[in-house]
Amino acid sequence: MARVYNWQIKRQMSYWYPQSRPQKQFAAVFDINKCIACQTCTLACKTTWTSGKGQEYMLWNNVESKPYGCYPLTWDLKLLGMLGPQGWEKGVYAGRTIFEAAPAGDRVLGWRPEEVNYAYPNVGEDDCSGSVEHGAALHGIHLMWFYYLARICNHCTYPACLASCPRASIYKRPEDGIVLLDQGRCRGYRECVKACPYKKVFFNPLTGTSEKCIACYPKIEQGIQPQCFVNCIGKIRLAGWISAPEAARKDNPIDYLVHIKKVALPLFPQFGLEPNVYYIPPIHAPAKFLQQMFGPGVEAAVEAYRSAARDEDLAGLLGLFGSTERVVPRFARQDDWVTGMDEEGKQIVRVPLREPVHILEAFDKKYQVVRTNCP
Ligand code: SF4
Ligand code: SF4
Repeated sequence: MARVYNWQIKRQMSYWYPQSRPQKQFAAVFDINKCIACQTCTLACKTTWTSGKGQEYMLWNNVESKPYGCYPLTWDLKLLGMLGPQGWEKGVYAGRTIFEAAPAGDRVLGWRPEEVNYAYPNVGEDDCSGSVEHGAALHGIHLMWFYYLARICNHCTYPACLASCPRASIYKRPEDGIVLLDQGRCRGYRECVKACPYKKVFFNPLTGTSEKCIACYPKIEQGIQPQCFVNCIGKIRLAGWISAPEAARKDNPIDYLVHIKKVALPLFPQFGLEPNVYYIPPIHAPAKFLQQMFGPGVEAAVEAYRSAARDEDLAGLLGLFGSTERVVPRFARQDDWVTGMDEEGKQIVRVPLREPVHILEAFDKKYQVVRTNCP
């Protein structure tokens, strides 16, 4: 095992290979508050990449309702239970990562789902925490909540799938940090399926090899965001590039959200993989539940998000989500306009800070009709 630095847990940790960061790291921010669980992303991915034989059960992108939803079944609960205490002290992770907790002879602490774990992709959908008594009425703030968690491969900086593969079939591209699985080298040992804590590697029983999300790299190579991003109805997703915290740039949208405003957080940072999909946490769920899922920065992230109405740069950047198919590596706000730019500073897209509001009269004189859905 080598010693590497993981900025998400703010300490050194053990990893199977020495530290080797890519020239650029693909990353994404998902705004949970805007997801409506329409599953358009899921189908956009499914019809693009996993419509073949042996791939029927594969969902490289899935959307589950928390607290009860999970695909495959118990993917998060089971590992959280196996890992043991996961405390944080002054922002530093005090527990063990899945690399440090690996049993003797294994490279990673993990578990391999059974067929039944993949049988119910929509389990827990729209189920609230708690229950409501028959005939009860709600007064004031109520404690029932749920939220939607959209998930893809995190293209981790320290991928457990890669560390676990005895054939070295999984590799991280030096040019963009995307994690790929070489179908020619894979012999179907499924160590990666066992090791990935997010369960984002799937075994194809017909080909005898494992498969995973490829971040739509043919699109990324052309500067276009992946399928699940550009088809997102809720406009919750933004793809881009993340820098190391000490090299964060204010004009880089992902850096701004993750490192500068700290409004977007990694999923289960305590696992130790430095995942590169970041989430703006839901503002209505209990902090304790969210802290286990997104780490100790949750309350500050929710506070920053709530103050976006008074923070024009942040509000403007949130308006760039879903505004263009292109990857936007730079942005700037000037007065009431936000511009997304390419690396050279050339404009890709421009959006207003405030959407114009049009109020239609109930009676439309032009067409001589009454519109019943007017405000
Ligand atoms: S398409 Fe967007 S809004 Fe719809 S479920 Fe997927 S992430 Fe959520
Ligand atoms: S999320 Fe899983 S499959 Fe994706 S890079 Fe990380 S460990 Fe590998």
